[in-house]
This record gives sequence, structure tokens and C-alpha cells, in this order.
Amino acid sequence: MGERETKDAISSAYNAFSHWSKLTAAERSTRLRKWYDLLIEHKEELGQLITLEQGKPLKEAITEVVSAAGHVEFFAEEAKRVYGDILPSPLPDRRLFVLKQPVGVVGAITPWNFPLGMIARKVAPALACGCTVVIKPSELTPLSALAAAELALQSGIPPGVLNVVMGDAPNIGNSILESPQVRKITFTGSTAVGKKLMAGAAETVKKVSPELGGNAPFIIFDDADLEAALKASLATKFRNSGQTCICTNRLLVQEGIYDKFINAFSSAVQSLKVVNGLSEDVAQGPLINEAAVQKVESLVQHAISQGAKVVVGGKRHNLGFTFYEPTIISDVKNEMLIAREEIFGPVTPVIRFKTEEEAIQIANDTESGLAAYLFTNNIQRSWRVCEALEYGIVGVNDGMFASPGAPFGGFKQSGLGRESSKYGLDEYLEIKCVCLGNMG
Ligand code: NAP
Repeated sequence: MGERETKDAISSAYNAFSHWSKLTAAERSTRLRKWYDLLIEHKEELGQLITLEQGKPLKEAITEVVSAAGHVEFFAEEAKRVYGDILPSPLPDRRLFVLKQPVGVVGAITPWNFPLGMIARKVAPALACGCTVVIKPSELTPLSALAAAELALQSGIPPGVLNVVMGDAPNIGNSILESPQVRKITFTGSTAVGKKLMAGAAETVKKVSPELGGNAPFIIFDDADLEAALKASLATKFRNSGQTCICTNRLLVQEGIYDKFINAFSSAVQSLKVVNGLSEDVAQGPLINEAAVQKVESLVQHAISQGAKVVVGGKRHNLGFTFYEPTIISDVKNEMLIAREEIFGPVTPVIRFKTEEEAIQIANDTESGLAAYLFTNNIQRSWRVCEALEYGIVGVNDGMFASPGAPFGGFKQSGLGRESSKYGLDEYLEIKCVCLGNMG
């Protein structure tokens, strides 16, 4: 699909808006709730589809479906809580009100790493507010989007409310950007493409919510519970073969426990089973495509050329295709490319640090600010470090905490605005101030 189909989809969303936005919140809520039911009813098939088109282990894929459905359920409930305000009036014969109204047609551009999850996070709040949507999923994972849209139709969400276009990304993206009928762009993907979309949205002054790349530090202090830190660091690094925006990108380990932790981490990483995502006991599937493997290879080679050392892995897996060995690289410096770029693969660069101040300085020395993790049993330190980290999401002694009710988004060049949670609704609403005169 290209320009013509995108324009058709925008017209279809624009026409559907007048009806959908005028339904009561309770009517929209009922249909979203039915969509939730259907997603859960089909979680096994949807999970298989995600694994087949994206490659992640089936268990992770089913977790993604349940989480996506959880967002739909959450926003079905929030649809009924879009409250306005009555403000104190500056004059005795005036009254001031604040109305919240849907922004209109939303263009949603999503990545391949969570083919269903990223769609649900955007479409559910948009529909709850009364907006209609044109989705452009990644060309690498279009099938989950189509399946979700079919289930939305079955749940009574009328044709035109949810539209899917796929194909030539710049062509579709430009058609969405140029259209004055599209009032908002929500995007999850790389920082480079996000910046292009932000610039393009300026021409028609659209609202923009970019959710962009990360460079997550995972900090382990000498006083941490090492077993808990080990479990969480494995999960945050190797989930989805390292291809998530909140995956650990740099492991910062304090010198007092460095050797002990790296030994334990190495044996755990060596035992991760790499195999296709539908197999039993799979811990890690393939990477998304050849370009992703080549990026990982070049970052690892560059780090080695700068003095880093391979502790585990460090090369393509003997299964071939796009499988890469779970890898640990030590003696990494924060100036190296591998610590500055988003790796998006199963490679853990390890950086040794001495003091708390040094850990904070290294952690914040990046343009990104999405997720960060810290492990310590010292409560004062946990607050100090948490407050000093320039990140939108901080896990303190915890590595996995995404929830529909928790705001998700980053500081600095990791994006603007928040998804999920009550704050996520505001991204799809306009505020109208109404002044009533001659009141008394
Ligand atoms: P990407 O290359 O930026 O692609 C994201 C989406 O944008 C895809 O649908 C892509 O289409 C589309 N696209 C590419 N060029 C475009 C253009 N010129 N105009 C309009 N659309 C365009 O990112 P990705 O490689 O798919 O995803 C990985 C990135 O997403 C990582 O940086 C990761 O950190 C980030 N991410 C962020 C979050 C978050 O919440 N902050 C969550 C998940 C992922 P095609 O794929 O069809 O080319």
C-alpha cells in the first residue's frame, strides 16, 4: 500500500469519527471490553502468530497478548473517567468550564518488536477517548495488526474506526503527516525516524507522541541481593533476544562484587537455550533480520578493537540464519560505541565502577532516558540514586514492571509524553475552555 490507500484510510477514519466520538463513553467502553475478551479468547493463536512473524519465544508472545489485552481492558474502564473541570470565575457573572474532547483522527506508527503490544497501547486509549485511528505496523510484522483489527470488528467496533495500512513506510508516513485531517501522530520506534516524524508534523501542527529508543543502565551495588540482581539482569537483557527499548544496554557492576557477579552471570548466560521460538524450553529465539545481526556484530567487533573482552559468546550461533549467541563483553568503557548505541541484540557490555557518584555519572552520560535499573539493599541509596537518574522508568530491585496502569515513556531523546496509565489518555484529548457570560 502507498499514498492512495493511506488517503482512503484517513478518509474512512475521518468519516467514522463523527459517529464514534458521539457514542457515550459507556458504549465505547462496552465494545473495548468485548475486544479484550476476544483477544484473551484467542491468546494462543495470536501468540503463535507473533512468534511466527517476529521470532520471540511463544511464552513471551502469549505474555505480550495478555499485556496488550490488559491495556484494552484498562482503557475500556478509563473511557468512563474522562473528567472535565469547573474553574473559579474571575467575574461574578461568568462561569468557566474545561471540556476534554477527542483530538480526532490519529496516525499510529508501530515497530516490529512488540507487534501487538505497541498497537494496543495506542489504539485502546485513542478509541476510549472517541478518536479513530489509522495504524501503520512494521512491514516485518503486519499479521498481528490485521488479526487485532479483525477481532476489533468482531467486537462491534464499527468499520472505519480502526484502519490498517502497510507497505512503503516513508510514503505512508508522509501521507499521514501531510493530511490536515490527521490531528495526532503517535509513534514507537527508533529515535532517528521519530525525529523525522516530529519535523514532518510541524507543517500541519499535529500533536506528536514519540516513544523512542533507550540505552538502559542496570546498576548493581556491592550491597545488592546478588541472586535477585542476577535473575533480573538475565530477564531484562535477554528477553526478546535483547530487542526491546527497555532491555539492559549497559551492565554497571561495583568493584567489590564484580568478579563474583560476573562468574555467576556467565554460567547463567551459557546455559540459556537458543532455538526457534516454538520449541520447548526456549530462552532466546532469532534476531529480526540479517541487518540486526550485522549491527550487533559490528558493535561487538568495534568494542573488541577498543580493548573490550569477550567473556561468553561473541558470534553468530551455530544454528545459522539470524541466531546470535547470548554474549557478555567485559572491560567496556562508556565512551565505546557499544555503550552509546542501542544494541538491540543479546549482548551485555559490562562496565566496572567504584563509587555511587561514578555509577550515576556513567548511567546519565547518554542522550537516552527511557528505563534504568538499580539493585541495592540500602534504602537511602535507593532513593538517592533513583532521584538522580535522568530516566522516565526506574526499577529499584526490580527488572520487569510494565503494567497498563503505570506511565511508560522517557526523558531526553527517548521521547515525549507517556503511554499507558491515566496519563496516557491526555495524549488523545484536546482541552476546551468554555466561558459562559451573562450568568447573573
Ligand atoms: P523504526 O525503524 O524506527 O521503525 C518503526 C516504525 O516506523 C515501523 O513501522 C517502520 O516501518 C516505520 N518507519 C520507518 N521509516 C519511516 C518513515 N520515514 N516514515 C514513516 N514511518 C517510518 O524502528 P524499529 O527498528 O522498527 O524498532 C526498534 C526501535 O523502536 C528501537 O529504537 C526501540 O528502542 C524503539 N522502541 C521504543 C519503544 C518505546 O516505548 N520507547 C518501544 C518499542 C521499541 P517499516 O518497519 O515498515 O519500515
